[in-house]
Amino acid sequence: MLVVRTVRVPVHYGITKRKLSILDSLTARTTYGVWLWSKLFKEHKLKGSYADRRRFYEQVKVDAKLGSLTQCCFDTASWMWRSYREAHKAWRRNVAIARREGRHGWLRKLLRREPQEPFTNGMNGKVPIWFDSRFGAIEQSEHMKLCGYVARVSTLRRGIKLTIPLNPAKYHLDPLEQGTLKSFQLVKRHGKYFVHVKVESAVPDQPVYAVRGIDLGVKRSIASVMLKPNQPLRSNDFSIQTDGLKRDRLNRLEKRVAELRRAKKWAPLKQIRHKRLHVSEYYDRLAAKQVATTSQNCLVAVGYPKGIKYTNPTGNGKPRQRRMLAHWTYGRMIRYIQEECAKVGVPAEAPDERWSSRTCHRCGSRHTERITQSIFHCWNCKLIYNADFNSSINIGSRFLPKATTRQATDDLAYTGDEQAREIVACKPRSPHPLMGG
Ligand SMILES: [Zn+2]
Repeated sequence: MLVVRTVRVPVHYGITKRKLSILDSLTARTTYGVWLWSKLFKEHKLKGSYADRRRFYEQVKVDAKLGSLTQCCFDTASWMWRSYREAHKAWRRNVAIARREGRHGWLRKLLRREPQEPFTNGMNGKVPIWFDSRFGAIEQSEHMKLCGYVARVSTLRRGIKLTIPLNPAKYHLDPLEQGTLKSFQLVKRHGKYFVHVKVESAVPDQPVYAVRGIDLGVKRSIASVMLKPNQPLRSNDFSIQTDGLKRDRLNRLEKRVAELRRAKKWAPLKQIRHKRLHVSEYYDRLAAKQVATTSQNCLVAVGYPKGIKYTNPTGNGKPRQRRMLAHWTYGRMIRYIQEECAKVGVPAEAPDERWSSRTCHRCGSRHTERITQSIFHCWNCKLIYNADFNSSINIGSRFLPKATTRQATDDLAYTGDEQAREIVACKPRSPHPLMGG
């Protein structure tokens, strides 16, 4: 398996003022180039093809005085428009659904969130472009005492390259040394330059002997079930990773923010503005790493709960559920799990799990209900089961040749899990259920 990673290396603090000013004007000019291309994309409804590029290439090259970097700017503009068009298409589809089904709350929300064309707000900040091997390289330098790595990029003056000293940390070195460098970006964040390097490396594929179905719950972080073809489930095939630590820290942070707000201490408030995000990212990354390292010889299948935030609009009488969803970033979690699994050669899939939480894993019926948030009941075969594990089994089963493990899963979901033990004491809610749960 070929894995592409992006390594974010800071530019060395010892870089000269002169070089910095060259960098500033280079990135300003390429941003202008991207903007120029973007304008052409809008005016002529370009698709990003080779012919499109040829048609306006000379014009942009002369107008923006970009030289050969015109190409990179075209690629970036083309990418921006492609993603915009895709996002807009998905948005239009959702609006149509919301209109047809009369879901006004969702519609109102959607209308506020129409994807914007590139550069709608003018040229706010810089747009980094990708330098590939034709326009730049990351090299190990023997001459420079300052650091081991430099980035060399084409400048606006023909034939002249700029050497930028880098300041890689220890953990940057492995990927830089072992992988093949594909391309890189010059990115300015908070007044400092970084080089984002795309590195491709080969990770040996692990043989797959089992499927690990994972359900990202709202209440408990990660529930997973290991499914092996032609083998009954055992108690240690079930696992729960809770996010108690993360929640603790976030709660404490929130308290602190509230205190500072009451006291109107804006300066310290500003300082911890991004902390919330960083804390969640840190714990999510940690959890994803744990999934990856405990999934040897598995195919990891994480349920992708599409549209779950939208289908729970405000005022649907479930404020508690909404509150929990508000801070629940399954998209990021799935991305992290896929990234971490790729690093160790574990294949990871994210199927659309629309029905996985409603379907009974034993008989396949959707004639089911939730007795509580965490307890699942099937009207068809009378199964009462841990809801998270039920979803996990459904998600994982999709990748098995046949759902052989179904009969054997009874009772096992209770083991090693405090919350699941309560199941035994539960009764179905009503004797006359509605279809679909
Ligand atoms: Zn059933």
